[in-house]
Parts: sequence; C-alpha cells; structure tokens
Amino acid sequence: MLEPLVRQNLPRLQYFYDRAPAPARHLLTSARGWVLTRLRYSRETFAILGDLREHESWNAAQIADHQLQGLRQTLSHAFSSVPFYADYPRVKLRSFEDLRTLPVIDRETILDNQDRFLSRAVPANQRIRAGTTGTTGASLRVAYSESLARYNWAFLLRQWAWANIEPRQPRITLQGARIVPMNRSEPPYWTYNVPERQVLMSIFHLSKKTAAAYLDFLCRHRGQVLEGFPSVLGILADFAIEAGIRIPMRVVFTSGEPLYPQVRAKIEAAFQAHTFDTYGMTEYCGLIQQCERGQMHLAPEYGFLEILDDIGNPTEPGEEGHLVWTGFLNDAMPLIRYRIGDRGRWQDGPLCSCGRAFPLVVPTITRESDTLYCPDGRLFSARALNQLLKRATSFRCCQFVHDRPSRVVVRAVARGLTQNGHTADDLMQIRSDLQNLLGAGIQVTAELGAEPIIRSGGKIPLIVEKAARP
Ligand SMILES: [Zn+2]
Repeated sequence: MLEPLVRQNLPRLQYFYDRAPAPARHLLTSARGWVLTRLRYSRETFAILGDLREHESWNAAQIADHQLQGLRQTLSHAFSSVPFYADYPRVKLRSFEDLRTLPVIDRETILDNQDRFLSRAVPANQRIRAGTTGTTGASLRVAYSESLARYNWAFLLRQWAWANIEPRQPRITLQGARIVPMNRSEPPYWTYNVPERQVLMSIFHLSKKTAAAYLDFLCRHRGQVLEGFPSVLGILADFAIEAGIRIPMRVVFTSGEPLYPQVRAKIEAAFQAHTFDTYGMTEYCGLIQQCERGQMHLAPEYGFLEILDDIGNPTEPGEEGHLVWTGFLNDAMPLIRYRIGDRGRWQDGPLCSCGRAFPLVVPTITRESDTLYCPDGRLFSARALNQLLKRATSFRCCQFVHDRPSRVVVRAVARGLTQNGHTADDLMQIRSDLQNLLGAGIQVTAELGAEPIIRSGGKIPLIVEKAARP
C-alpha cells in the first residue's frame, strides 16, 4: 500500500526533489520507480497479462459474454457500495439494451458529487487520488486502487507485445512529471529510474537552445523504446528534422492527447519507427489501443463502450457520436454510463487483419491547441501546460492566452453562476505556478471570463497563441 501514500505526498516530495542535486534526483526517481516497479512487474500483473494475451483469440460472442458479465459485476459492486448510485433502479441485465434504462452521467455530474462516487468497499488509505483535466482544462479529482494500477500496466504490456517489445526493455519517457527544476538552463534535462531501465526527460525544458542536448542524448540511446505525449514528441521531431538528422528508435508509444496524422508522420520520419497510439483517460473506465496493423481496438476487458447521438440513441457504424463508458476495473470509483466529453465512431467494415475480434473504434480528434512560443526560444506544448491545471477543481474551463510576446494571461471560466474564494485561490495558484515555469522574462496575469475562447468548429484550445513567433 505504498503507492496511495506516495501519491498523497507528491506535492511535498516535489519541493525537496526540486532542491536536490542531480545525483540525488536520480536516486529519488529510482526510489519512486522501485515503488512503481513492485506494482508494475508483480506476479499478479504478469498473471493478468497472461489472461489478456489469451483473450486475443476471442470471437465476437466470447467478447460479448465477457462484457455482459463485466457490466453485471460493475453494477452489483456500484449499487452495493457507492452512495451516488443508491437511488438507481436495480436493473437486471439480460442484455446490453437493459443498461440503457440507467441515466447517462457527465463530467459535471461527477464534479457536483465528487466524494459520492467513491466506493465504501475500498478503504480511504487504499485509494490513490489523481487529477484529470479533460478537454476543456476543467479539473476532476478521481480515485483508483493498486489493483487498477496493475491492470493498467498489464494492458500496457499487452500493447508492447503487439509491438514485439518484451517487458522492461530500456525506454525513454517524455510525460508530465516535473523531474528537473524549472530554472535549470544546462543539461541534464533528464533523470534515471534504474529499477525500470527508464530515462525520464523533462517536457518543460524544450527550447531551441536545449534542442542539441536533447537530440544528442537521444542519439546516444538510439534503438530504445520512446514514449510520450504526441505534442512533445512532435516538438522533438521538429528539432531533429530542422537539424537534418534522424534518430532511429525501436518503437514509439504515444498517449495522453490526440495524435494528429501530421504529427505522427513527423515523429515516424524523425525517429524511423512505427508509432502505437493509445486512447485512455484518468477516470480509468475505458481503453482503446492501436495494434500492429494500425487499427484502434477497444480493450473489451477494460470497459463497455456505447457511442450515442445527441439524444442518447446508439449511432450506426461509421456515424460519429459521444463516447459513453462503463468501466469494469476501477472498483474505487466505478462510473456507469459516463459521457466523457470525447467523440468517436465504430469503424465500419471487415475485422482487422491482425486477427483480433476486438471492436474497432475511431476516436475523433477534437482537442486543438497551439504551442506556446516564448521570446527566449522555449516551447511549451498544450499537454505540458495542462499539468498545471490538475489540482484546480473550480473551473469550467481554463486557457492560456499569449497575447503579447512578454505576457501570458491565465483565463478561467468559473463553474456555476457565481465565483467564490475557491475560484480565486485556484486562479492565483495557477498564475503563480505558470510564472515559476515561464520565469521572469514573461509576465503572467490572470482573469475570469464569462465564456471560453472558442474556435470555429466549437474547439476550445488550451493555448491561444496570438503573439508573433520569435
Ligand atoms: Zn488489429
């Protein structure tokens, strides 16, 4: 039960971590890695992985059986232990259609009832808490258990197997952790997690000035697994392409935000490797993973997916609708018919040539954002700045508006009709965090707006880049 404790204390640990010298940071990263390794490479995880690999030969009827059983178990667990579902009708599931007698919930529903979604069957000290920001920059606090963390890792390892990668292969990761102090202006911009044979590279230090150091490090680790947020790997790919070099990596895994076709193309060109994308979410109620033939498969053991039109009816294959998930694995916070805010469609046509009968889903790429270009050459992807919003729960939406070269405005829209002290606190905290991140060369201000800045097509960009590029 170490992971709930570590997660709970991460902000405090970050303070000491940021003040430690580089060798001590490697040690601390490895200590954190050791805790995660015990979950990720446990006997239970490999037992789950063994089962998951067997499921790859399931036919459609076996998949449907498993999903109906998963729904029954989830409903039974949720009805008996989660306060929010106390008033739900006790529906008996004979078929998938019976599920449709239950209401669809959305992000707002969870925001308004945060603690009532927690299962009483999972003790508080076994809950791992995390923040998620979704597509609009409105943060949600979620909970999960160590059991879910093992499942998650087993699903990741199954996709590694599709890519022909054994567990524990050396990998380089560019995700959200703040592993190098913000004010650092010379290498290393990375740290070592020795137990997992992993290098974590900072996503907050990418700049024209640091590009050579990043590229040089990657060159020295060519042939390894590369994983990260698509926009961040896209920036690295640009660096490589501009420098006229190619760095062959073994394979690339992307997750955490949409992978645009043009970003995939430059990542694959720069790193000369096949890219495997994943659609998941911190609410942990569903998973879609790309196979070696490039198709996006629903993981049928993870959750049940409905794709519904605006009035709640199932869409036809090929027709876009709202993704509505019922997760099977997150016993700490079960979500039933959760409309997450993303859209997608069932893929029409024959089964995938990989041979797996797992349904094919195409998530729609809805989030669109600019990159923040600082006057001193630093670049921040939307996914990097998104990290700042994870603890702020009082906004309906939050955006970063770069309106002059030396100024960024944190622009939030409060939830509900009236703002309160909580909104102001959240706004000031984000302003201060962003100021620390950007440094003294850029002034950060904050304001509340009535409505988010919306682009044509209804897209709400996290970063609005209005200043001219340096
Ligand atoms: Zn496939």
